[in-house]
Amino acid sequence: MNEFELIERCFRPLAADFPGALELADDAALLSPPPGHQLVVSADMLNEGVHFLGSEDPALIARKALRVNLSDLAAKGAEPWCYFLTLAIPAPLDEVWITRFCEGLAEDQREFGIALLGGDTTSTIGKISISITALGHVPEGMMLRRSGGNPGDILCVSGTLGDAAEGLRLLREDTPPSDPLVARYLLPQPRTALGLQLRGLASAAMDISDGLAQDLRHLCRASSVGAVVHAKSIPRAGATLEQALGGGDDYEILFAVPPEKIGSIPEGCTRIGRLTEGEEVAVLDAVGVKIPVRLAGWQHF
Ligand code: ADP
Ligand code: MG
Repeated sequence: MNEFELIERCFRPLAADFPGALELADDAALLSPPPGHQLVVSADMLNEGVHFLGSEDPALIARKALRVNLSDLAAKGAEPWCYFLTLAIPAPLDEVWITRFCEGLAEDQREFGIALLGGDTTSTIGKISISITALGHVPEGMMLRRSGGNPGDILCVSGTLGDAAEGLRLLREDTPPSDPLVARYLLPQPRTALGLQLRGLASAAMDISDGLAQDLRHLCRASSVGAVVHAKSIPRAGATLEQALGGGDDYEILFAVPPEKIGSIPEGCTRIGRLTEGEEVAVLDAVGVKIPVRLAGWQHF
């Protein structure tokens, strides 16, 4: 299978339901966002040996690559729409690998109602690199920002934290992919429906991909506020507190809600603290003593 056969056989079917993809037969795609809506666009790259081990089922790698982007869209309150895929793969092309990879894409396209719009494919002398750019839309002015939080807002997270960090540890000890925590690492669950519910409710929101402690600092800096978090309130399902604070790959949503809207916090979300004046981000133990939190969190360089 050469480059053009790859596009025709593997990628074109993934673009079939989206007229603007022009059957991947032109130089570019053509898009008009729904009237009254804005595009929300996010890109994420996954590299073999850094973000995935390489030995996983290629379908899972594909779905994770898509889902980390869908998680960004969810955290912005956007409805997923379509995506671009840029791939660097060692030659010769492993047809079994790429076929399985595209099956994974097809499965999640159905699950999230999205289509492939275009991309680029090259060979590499290095390892596999997968870059996806996902597009979603929101009604004009409705995108959730990191910057809208105010002192006094209630801080919440969806789901449970640290699962993926513990899952990765278990995977490295040869725990099977069927283990629920390993599954959380291999296949994140973008909180798409929650993101839509948070429109007009959350004052600030972001997805947690690099550990709560680090990502909360980013939200606080963007909002020019501090925060107090109660360690015992952080929802966990088998992870340690350290994993919940510093582990990556959660793909849950961290958001702030003004106190008068506290009754509307969606199901499956937990209050973990509140935003404060100033810039300190403190994590308190059960008796209110500050826990020294290593700045930890995932960082590439
Ligand atoms: P160019 O010569 O401009 O780089 P290509 O020949 O790479 O264009 O691409 C031809 C068509 O195939 C384009 O519509 C492009 O979007 C599509 N395409 C190439 N690689 C991918 C991919 N990995 N995923 C989706 N579409 C792709
Ligand atoms: Mg071209």
